[in-house]
Amino acid sequence: MGARPFMKVLIVGGGGREHALAWKCAESPRVDRVYVAPGNAGTALENKTSNVPVAAHDIDALLAFAKSEDIALTIVGPEGPLVAGIVDRFAAAGLSCLGPTKAAARLEGSKAYAKEFLERHRIPTAGYSTFTRESFDPGALLAQRLPLVVKADGLAAGKGVAICASHADAIAAATGMLEGKFGAAGNTIVVEEFLSGEEVSFIALAHDQQVLPLATSQDHKRRDDGDRGPNTGGMGAYSPAPIVTPEVHGRIMREVIEPTLRGLRLDGNPYTGFLYAGLMLAPDGTPNVLEFNCRLGDPETQSIMMRLTSDLPGLCAAAIAGRLQGATAAWDSRAALGVVMAAGGYPESFRKGEPISGLEAAATMPGKVFHSGTRMDGGRIVTDGGRVLCAVGLGATVSAAQGQAYDLVRRIHWNLVQYRRDIGYRAIARECLQT
Ligand code: AMP
Repeated sequence: MGARPFMKVLIVGGGGREHALAWKCAESPRVDRVYVAPGNAGTALENKTSNVPVAAHDIDALLAFAKSEDIALTIVGPEGPLVAGIVDRFAAAGLSCLGPTKAAARLEGSKAYAKEFLERHRIPTAGYSTFTRESFDPGALLAQRLPLVVKADGLAAGKGVAICASHADAIAAATGMLEGKFGAAGNTIVVEEFLSGEEVSFIALAHDQQVLPLATSQDHKRRDDGDRGPNTGGMGAYSPAPIVTPEVHGRIMREVIEPTLRGLRLDGNPYTGFLYAGLMLAPDGTPNVLEFNCRLGDPETQSIMMRLTSDLPGLCAAAIAGRLQGATAAWDSRAALGVVMAAGGYPESFRKGEPISGLEAAATMPGKVFHSGTRMDGGRIVTDGGRVLCAVGLGATVSAAQGQAYDLVRRIHWNLVQYRRDIGYRAIARECLQT
């Protein structure tokens, strides 16, 4: 990486993804300080790491901090600041900030734009229509096959998607969004056909046409065991995803990642940063794009970072500088599996401020507990969000990693904690078939 032997890194965000990024950056011998804005109780306790009391969306304050502290590399965790143009602002000030420009981040910021982009560049995705309040025609929905998927166009914290089993439900969901249920994010809606298959996350680090795929991963979005119950930000994940065989990997690169990066360049918006494609693998293996994210996923990042053995700041700096050609990332050959521990009631209403016990005992055990919604309260660590912790285990198999993760989970407790008991079950079933 550049000429600076010891550098300061700034991580923007305060969740489990950012804890994992900060922890991995702090491991780098070339990094002497990691700042996390705003961070959480977990990042506050990490080696070489400090929290900065600045919100992830406060781009002015982040920029002022990065200038005053001579930050050599900023890595942005959440989509909000990227869609708002943080990378453009940092670049204009001559600062290195990893992520797409505001124009390229529209791939996540607007689902209607992403669908139009996918269609125009012939990248596989579900058939769709878009509507505004003025153009909405309930009759057009009645003609569509069920189930129907109704999505708010803009950022809605993962909540703006309704899978509707009846036309009445679809019309109600569409009307709710158009009438402001998700604020301006629902001024435009996308109605698309339901795709069946198995979902996978595919994440690559990119600089224009240069691309370095990360280790594969898969997450569990539903709250309850057996992938039932309401959609959440993610209740657990593992890496690698056995469903992504070398053949599937090749198809995703050729049919999704490469044409997407090519399309962005053709459109005049070359992409730099982590590109996350949420895919539904059809029974015939077609990788249909459900969504793009312009950043890493949470909780996939926690499992992916547990396996990364290369220097993370070095890879990020190579992406910003356009030196990814020929770059490789090394991965621990073991599987990693993370179980999210959430507050009772999540993803609806939940309590904050519950004291968490068992973290010190867990810190002496194999594996790693990443914090999401936690804060220090006096000398104690208390809950401060819906998703509170992610306990990650490593093992020779997904099954062994799962055992290690749940050993950690069983050590930790707070009032009304909830978590799934079956994270990784599909991968473990595949492992059983192979042995
Ligand atoms: P999105 O934010 O667009 O990824 O949607 C959130 C979740 O809704 C996805 O992770 C899928 O589980 C589900 N979903 C979205 N679009 C579709 C679709 N066209 N068919 C089936 N499930 C979908």
